[in-house]
Amino acid sequence: MKHTEASSEAGAALLRQIPAVDELLARAALRELAARLGRRPVVDATRRVLQSLRGRISSGDLSSLSVDMLENEIVAATETSVEPSLRAVVNATGVILHTNLGRAPLAPVAARRAAEIASRYSNLEYDLERGERGRRDAHTDRLFRRLLGAEMTLVVNNNAAAMFLALNTIAEGGEVVVSRGELIEIGGSFRIPDISAKSGAVLREVGTTNRTRISDFEAAINERTRALVRVHPSNFRIVGFTERPELREMVELARNHGLPLIEDLGSGCLVDLGPHGIEGEPLAGESLKAGVDVVTFSGDKLLGGPQAGVLTGSRPWLERIRKNPLFRALRVDKLTIAALEATVALYLGGDLRAIPALAMIQASKDEIAERAGRLAERLLARAGVSARLEDGESVIGGGSTPGSSLPTRLVSVRVEGLSAAELAARLRRSRPPVIARVERGEVLLDLRTVLEGEDELVSKAFEKIALECA
Ligand SMILES: *Cc1c(COP(=O)(O)O)cnc(C)c1O
Repeated sequence: MKHTEASSEAGAALLRQIPAVDELLARAALRELAARLGRRPVVDATRRVLQSLRGRISSGDLSSLSVDMLENEIVAATETSVEPSLRAVVNATGVILHTNLGRAPLAPVAARRAAEIASRYSNLEYDLERGERGRRDAHTDRLFRRLLGAEMTLVVNNNAAAMFLALNTIAEGGEVVVSRGELIEIGGSFRIPDISAKSGAVLREVGTTNRTRISDFEAAINERTRALVRVHPSNFRIVGFTERPELREMVELARNHGLPLIEDLGSGCLVDLGPHGIEGEPLAGESLKAGVDVVTFSGDKLLGGPQAGVLTGSRPWLERIRKNPLFRALRVDKLTIAALEATVALYLGGDLRAIPALAMIQASKDEIAERAGRLAERLLARAGVSARLEDGESVIGGGSTPGSSLPTRLVSVRVEGLSAAELAARLRRSRPPVIARVERGEVLLDLRTVLEGEDELVSKAFEKIALECA
């Protein structure tokens, strides 16, 4: 940038006015801050603020300087620098299993169980009856036996790990048969062909993208075949001229050839969500009942628990999987077991509304509209803020149920003097950050995914932004 003589002289004068670091640190507010947060972050923030100040002066972006302003900037910079990197945010996007926002939030009771187990000793691998070493998988094994009637269950880090482990244990060095219509990719680079290649299994693709018959599977079976694989196409639908073998046909074919059937269910839907507008999600219990040997699914999608991958099914196959040295590498920690156990206990007790993801799916448009109306009223009370309600749709997300959406009521908000993108950016910088939708140049809030008690936080974030813009 080019400056006139006068402006560079003014700049030089401003530069001379910048106080020394020690002088700033001696001020009461910064001394108090250093006492609270430690001297180091305050000194570092002061240096950073002064450096950026010099930059702004040199480029002519600043025409006056006050020590109070500097002090405020240093306080804000220090506070931001000591904040944890992983923070709680308010999800106002209406995407329930938002992968970037941590998928399913835990039920409070599950979070409390995890916190208790985390901060104390536990019987993680200790048999309380016998007073000797026990199995860490005993806890979840027992649980899924009660819930699904499963012979045996193992839990690993996530569903990708579950599929990898199943394929590696059962099919390394051999072939697995999969329909071309099920060679899926899940966001974040989980691809069936890649996982299968890494597991050491050779993929035998059969059928076509839209149509695969049981006879295609049958024709591909040979002496190298180790398993049949069925994958739920979680995040897309093929419609029109399509065909896919029935689950029971696959089970029968596998049985007749003495092969196991592995099924990747994706979401881990444990109850029929059809009455709530979610169609086409296969149920884990149905697959077990049909006789699938190894069923895998995620813990933090429709199940609504912690990140985990569940492998459940017939004991002989699961015992083999358990003996794979990689199981030890992919196993879950006690916090996950605690949270999963508490979540599944809610299913056993029929208390589905206590699971946040399921409560969000079940929330009616009327319930959301009522909250949205109250929020809009509060926002309208602020000078410079306008808010109105409009119809919209929430989605499940997390690569589940691509065809289904849930009718909702959105709050569309504007703040005078701010573009939609700038408003969304300020919401993200709020404490806690509020993540909104921006569509057609509008900031939209969907309260379906805003947890109980968070409406207030959204309102406060707008209050602060409106004040800054006044
Ligand atoms: C989501 C999904 C996965 C990956 O599960 P993660 O728990 O994210 O590892 C694998 N397969 C299917 C069909 C899925 O939907």
